[in-house]
Order: sequence, then C-alpha cells, then structure tokens
Amino acid sequence: MQKHNFSAGPCVLPREVLLKASEAVMDFNGSGLSLIEISHRSKDFVAVMERARSLVLELLNLEGKGYQALFLQGGASMEFLMVAYNLLETKAGYLNTGTWSDKAIKEAKLFGEVVEVGSSKDENFNYIPKGYAVPSGLDYLHLTSNNTIFGTQFKKFPTTDAPLVCDMSSDIFSRVLDFSKFDLIYAGAQKNMGPAGTTLVVIKEEILGKVSRKIPSMLNYQLHIDKESMYNTPPVFAVYTSMLTLEWLKNMGGIAAIEEINEKKAQLLYSEIDLNPVFEGYANKNDRSNMNATFNLAEEGLKDTFDAMLKEAGINGLNGHRSVGGYRASMYNALSLESVGVLVDVMSEMERKA
Ligand code: PMP
Repeated sequence: MQKHNFSAGPCVLPREVLLKASEAVMDFNGSGLSLIEISHRSKDFVAVMERARSLVLELLNLEGKGYQALFLQGGASMEFLMVAYNLLETKAGYLNTGTWSDKAIKEAKLFGEVVEVGSSKDENFNYIPKGYAVPSGLDYLHLTSNNTIFGTQFKKFPTTDAPLVCDMSSDIFSRVLDFSKFDLIYAGAQKNMGPAGTTLVVIKEEILGKVSRKIPSMLNYQLHIDKESMYNTPPVFAVYTSMLTLEWLKNMGGIAAIEEINEKKAQLLYSEIDLNPVFEGYANKNDRSNMNATFNLAEEGLKDTFDAMLKEAGINGLNGHRSVGGYRASMYNALSLESVGVLVDVMSEMERKA
C-alpha cells in the first residue's frame, strides 16, 4: 500500500534519492566498496563533500558572496550553542517564536546577555510577533524562520544593522528568499535535505573572529571553514544523501520550482481546514507555515474515527506535537501534491461522516 508520509522530521525524502543512497551503501561509484566503509579522505568522498557544499551555495544563490557552507554534527541543537560561542561577546537579540527558539535562548544565556526582542509565548506561539523594535548594539539577531511545532512561519524578516542569524531547520530550500540578508543560517538535515546526522551551517565568513573568548576546536566555525568541513570524520552517509537531495532539487528547477509546488500543497490543505467545519486551524492565518500545518478537530469525540480513516488511507505522521495536541501535516519538499490530495479527501469524507 502506498504511504503518505506527513512526518515532521525525520521525514519523507525523494524516492530516487533513497534508491541511489541505498545503492551507494552496497557499492559506491562502482568501486565494489560501500560508501560507509571507505576513507572519508578518499578522492571519491572528498568530491562528495565539495559537491554538497557547492550545491548549497548555488541553490541559495550565495556563490561568490563571501559565504561558506559546512556540514557539521550535533543537530540544530548544537548550533544553539555554537552560534553564541562564536558570535556573542556582550548582547544578542532573540525572537521567541516557539520551543526551538526558547531552547536557543537558553543556550545563548550561558554566554552573554540575551534580549528577547519579541515573543508570542502569550498565545502559546500561534503567531509571529510584529511591531517590535530591534535595539541597536546587538552582536546578532536570531530568529527561527519556521516553527515546526506550532506551524508558523516568518513571511517578512526584521531589519537590523546587526548580523542576522536564522534557524531554517524546517523550511530551508522550500521558498525563494534573499539569502544574502542572512549572515548565518543553520538547519538540521532531516527535513528538506537528508537523514539525521548532519547539520548545514552557511556563514558569511566576515562575521567571525570578533569574540574574545577561546573557542574549542570542534565548536569553532573558522576552524571548520579552514578544514573544508573535514576537520574530523564527517557523517559520510548523511552528507552523501544530502548531496543527492540537493542534486534532485537542482534538476527539478531549484528553489523557485519547488516553492510553486509547496504553495499549491499548502493552499489545498489550508482551504480544506477553513471550509470544513470539523477542523480548526491552530496558527494565526497570516502567519501560517507552508511546511507544517497545525489543526485540531472541532470535537475531540471524532478522534478515533478520524485516526482510523487516516490509517486506512496510508497516512503516516499526522499527530501534533505533544505541546500543541491535535494534528500537524508536514509538507516538506519531497511530499507530493498527490499525498496532500489524499489527506484532503479523508478530511472531507470525515465531514460527511460527522
Ligand atoms: N530547530 C527547529 C526549527 C527544529 O524543527 C528542530 C527539530 N525538529 C530543531 C531546531 C532541533 O534539531 P535537532 O534535533 O537536529 O537538534
């Protein structure tokens, strides 16, 4: 039975990527050896790392603009502290839009003063704060472009004279942005890029070298840049699979092409949520995420029936995060419009049954 995978991450990846990645595990480039049993210093793997790094800059339109792409480890959670370790000298600004920014704030407080420039905590993060004033004199301003748990997404970004740092874990490569407005972008691979195990960090090199503290090697962005993202053994399988997904994205026309499909998927689902009286959207309409749509049943009593119908239709991963409850449909790049169509059909069938 065909599955429709709406999981929030790890999540659906393109079928052809999974096939190529499994082939490489058995026989990498016709070498008779597995991708995961050869040296990371071999010519073939070094070429993979170089290709993955350059595809990132090409797709984000950041080539020749002073940026470096790194594939690190420790998840996006490690970046919560690495960002502060490398950039926070005195005071940083954070926009608090949910669980992940909250965690980033907690780590940053270990290194200096944190100003919460805006927050949507008062409404359990169902909106993106607006109308806040960004103070001057910040070492950087940090935000989370897409809030995976609550289903909100920045449509407009703040202007500031400080370096702009963005956690794009759950919407990188999903929509066209002027990425050169950001000085540091990070994203765990396991949504729009590949398996868990590597974290993409894209840095404008000129923002580094400004803090006075000593930075341990593994946490030092400059060192990872100098070593071309190969300071220690990189997570070879995660990097290779990410490279395949980036190739897939490039071949289908890049971010602009996928954005068009992502818009269609989101419109299809949100119009069902709005028209169908059985369901209620969670996030403020203007701030809705095109990646993660959060919604609830108007009547909890319908849950067992709806869950059984989802199962019957082969729909996986629709349960909301425990802090929000209800449902969350994650519609990452590799999820097809057809899968969203299947979900919408189940939702309208639910209305007929209710
Ligand atoms: N930031 C965001 C926006 C996320 O969605 C997640 C994970 N879902 C994280 C950070 C944490 O990522 P990791 O598990 O890779 O540390």
